[in-house]
Amino acid sequence: MAKTVAGRLATAAALAVLAVAALAGTAAAAPAADPAAGPPGSAEAEAGAEAGTRTETETGTDACPNGWSTETTVWFGPPRVDTGIPNPGGPDGCTLLDRVWKREPFSSHAGFVFAVRAAADEFVTAGRLSARDRARIVLAAARTHVGGPRDESIPNTCDRRLAIQFDDGPSHYRTETLRILREKQVTGVFMDTGTRVLANPQFARFQLAEGHELLNHTYSHANLNQVLTSEGPDGVRREILAAQAAFASVGAPISFQGIRPPFGAANAQVRQIIADMGYTAYMTRIGTDDWVPERTAQEISDAIVEQLYPGAIISLHDGPYDSPAGPGTNGGLALLIDAARERGYCFGTVDRHGDVVADRLVPTKRPIPVVENPVPYAPLIFPGEPPEPYVILD
Ligand SMILES: [Zn+2]
Repeated sequence: MAKTVAGRLATAAALAVLAVAALAGTAAAAPAADPAAGPPGSAEAEAGAEAGTRTETETGTDACPNGWSTETTVWFGPPRVDTGIPNPGGPDGCTLLDRVWKREPFSSHAGFVFAVRAAADEFVTAGRLSARDRARIVLAAARTHVGGPRDESIPNTCDRRLAIQFDDGPSHYRTETLRILREKQVTGVFMDTGTRVLANPQFARFQLAEGHELLNHTYSHANLNQVLTSEGPDGVRREILAAQAAFASVGAPISFQGIRPPFGAANAQVRQIIADMGYTAYMTRIGTDDWVPERTAQEISDAIVEQLYPGAIISLHDGPYDSPAGPGTNGGLALLIDAARERGYCFGTVDRHGDVVADRLVPTKRPIPVVENPVPYAPLIFPGEPPEPYVILD
């Protein structure tokens, strides 16, 4: 997948310093009174839809749609060995990593190393990789277990790739979510809130170490349209930067500047503010009302599976911020991953342009964290209680 580079401003570090100063003021922001998320297909959510970055290839068509980005480095695993060498792109849109993984499953470790050498040779011949980097890439491949008897990887290469985002957490349900993602070897894109990361920072740190993405869902799960009305543009910026600063303060810096505005609430002015901050807003996703406590795992899975299309971003919630729902989503997660794979889909992650790209989760052996401190909630708008410990913010 060859891409244009957007050249977005990287002012996060400077702004995060300002956000730390703003934390005290933002913590008291009023919780939103709306349901945990607007219907994914609502006019509001769709109005915020952003076209992904245009994919450009020299031959006109991308032969590796939603494949490995040229913005990643060449790495293999298990165990994870990263060369630090940028993943070179080819004229048809396929990168070196696309060429390698298109050959999986490998019959042996030697077969894997052979595939890496063949792909690297192709890029050297095309003048897109130096002989020195080719040698380092082949050496890195040889140091892994890929294709060998110790390799327990689930094949994750296809032409129909999906990503899964989880909004609102981390809550009590995050432990089980992380267990399922480890078992299924799927990367999670966690749109976490500042309040909840500060309450249980062990999750955010684990997520990054395990290979998941940590992105922004504001500090207090604020409706940014309402914040714009009541506090102006500075209020919107404070909500976003306070979350970013909260993540950094617990040793879990944001993966990159990506945000899901809570409730999908982002009018034209809010979207402009977000863009001016160098952030990408994820507005176009497929989901269901998994924040309704009565929804069963099967209903959640079925509702999402029937909407699948190549390159789709799936939207789920982790202990919705204002609803006691939760178990159905985790059950639905396991079901929908299996159902999607049966239909020829595989899983990846999102990039900073808003597109689905290839990835592989190579799980660590680290113990998966549990909730240690009360999970913040806004006043609940559905009957029922979340698992203890939790606290209602007002
Ligand atoms: Zn949310």
